[in-house]
Amino acid sequence: MKLRYCPQCGEELVPKKEGDSERLFCRGCNEFVYENPVPVVAGVILDKEKRILLIKRGVEPCKGRWTLPTGFLEIDEKPEETILREIKEETNLDCRIRSLVGLYQQRGWRYKSVIVLAYTLDVLKGEAKAGDDAVDIRYFDYKDLPEIPFKSHREIIKDIFQGKR
Ligand SMILES: [Zn+2]
Repeated sequence: MKLRYCPQCGEELVPKKEGDSERLFCRGCNEFVYENPVPVVAGVILDKEKRILLIKRGVEPCKGRWTLPTGFLEIDEKPEETILREIKEETNLDCRIRSLVGLYQQRGWRYKSVIVLAYTLDVLKGEAKAGDDAVDIRYFDYKDLPEIPFKSHREIIKDIFQGKR
């Protein structure tokens, strides 16, 4: 989404060069407005048959499509807390983090760019059922995956199943 107004004062932003970079400038604040990537978390849960858990999204963007469980960090939350909270909300599973898969970057919807922190998780307890922002939930074989709209999630899943992570 393109930023049009200054988040500080509400003045309409104008393009202006800063060195070689074309940026947005606020004439009200007399300052450049910087846009930076926003972190999000995504979780990888495999069952005993090495199938991967996906949720069917109940909210935009990509409502009705299958993705990894994912979400934004609350302001004072650590990413490790966010992923456990999001997993619980969307899948009803209590998990513990096994490892960080890696960091992935892609263009976003609400934000221009997001950095996805991907974690593998072990299920401690609970039965998988869709909740909160998810309308369905299922384990998928790697050979039988639905089309996944988020590029970063496709990369994460590929890295997991091709053993690169
Ligand atoms: Zn301003």
